[in-house]
Amino acid sequence: MTVMNSQIQVARRNCANFDNGNCLGCMFQRKDSKLLMRLDSKYVDKPCVVDKGCTYFDKIVKKGIICT
Ligand code: SF4
Repeated sequence: MTVMNSQIQVARRNCANFDNGNCLGCMFQRKDSKLLMRLDSKYVDKPCVVDKGCTYFDKIVKKGIICT
């Protein structure tokens, strides 16, 4: 992924998990009319992987972006 195509700045501005380049790993999911939150050890305190593929970014964060 080239710098121009990188989604890292979009994640920095819009993803609540983005913490100085690392991910907090706090994932939300709706199940049986309940909102669940869990810490995903694959992401917690690790560098943001948005450019390698992040399901949370694609399914939750991007849908909430009105304009960038
Ligand atoms: S890895 Fe995904 S959830 Fe974590 S900060 Fe990056 S875009 Fe957000």
